[in-house]
Amino acid sequence: MNLRFRHIYVEKRILNNEYVKNILAKFPKAEIIEINHYKDRFNPYYQSFRAQKDAQSLILAKKDPPFIYEASELIQKLGVNFFYTTPMLNCIYDCHYCFLQGMYPSSNLVLFVNFNDFFKEVERVYENLGNLFLSISYDTDILAVENLFGVAKKWADFVKDKNIKLELRTKSVNIDFEYQENLVFAFSLSPETVIERYEKYTPKLKARIKAIKKVINKGFKPVIVFDPIIKLPNFKEVYKDFLQKVFSEINYKNIESIVYGTFRMNSTQFKIIKKQLLSDIYYYPYSVKNGIVEYEDKEEVIKFIENLLPDVKKIFV
Ligand code: SF4
Repeated sequence: MNLRFRHIYVEKRILNNEYVKNILAKFPKAEIIEINHYKDRFNPYYQSFRAQKDAQSLILAKKDPPFIYEASELIQKLGVNFFYTTPMLNCIYDCHYCFLQGMYPSSNLVLFVNFNDFFKEVERVYENLGNLFLSISYDTDILAVENLFGVAKKWADFVKDKNIKLELRTKSVNIDFEYQENLVFAFSLSPETVIERYEKYTPKLKARIKAIKKVINKGFKPVIVFDPIIKLPNFKEVYKDFLQKVFSEINYKNIESIVYGTFRMNSTQFKIIKKQLLSDIYYYPYSVKNGIVEYEDKEEVIKFIENLLPDVKKIFV
């Protein structure tokens, strides 16, 4: 059972912020604890990421610079000015393969409320470059909590009439947005077996496909993401059925592109997570190249998947 947000930590300096007051009003039973700085609660190394995950606290905070980061490897692959920003740290979902487990000492959810500081900095970078591809769901699944916090809506309003593509990568089905040309929905899909085993708290495949169809009906051209591809013992059978199902339900001509990649992780994060989480994902035959752990037979897996993908723009990550 998930006992999420029974405790809410709030930085003293934002107690009078209207947005903060509105959020707190949504959790009348939560214990509110005032703190000086979110890092006092978030950073101590003695915490247990796993123990906190099923009883996540919420931390409301003000972010200090930097507000925007360049994703250099994606700039090369996608050929756009790819930047990401972090309006939230951590995620309400709990995927076994998630690198966040090895990145932060705490799994509590940090929500930054100084939106205008983010907007100002993004505006500055945007004016310099003339266009941007901006992900706001890079270290989190921002749409998973859209019904509670409305963060993506604020960003969607901010980018309206700007040459900024706003990427909303998600496993959620919270897609209640009016059509807007520069919103890029990127739906992560996995076979139902993978969802059940490794993507705790996320919506089922059927619900995600339904959400994709809905956004297509509104006029969006979503991106479909198959990443990470997990090499289950019977992975060929599972992924063949899965991809057939996906593209029998979704006409590939209605999607923008497919992003795909096999499970991989920075080796330091891999070691940290392997110690904390009992999951067979961390016990496959792996090789380490340039500090990245990846399947020994990655090329074979990719080749198999590529043969099953429809004729649409594909980006291997
Ligand atoms: S949805 Fe994404 S960010 Fe959230 S736990 Fe899963 S992999 Fe991590």
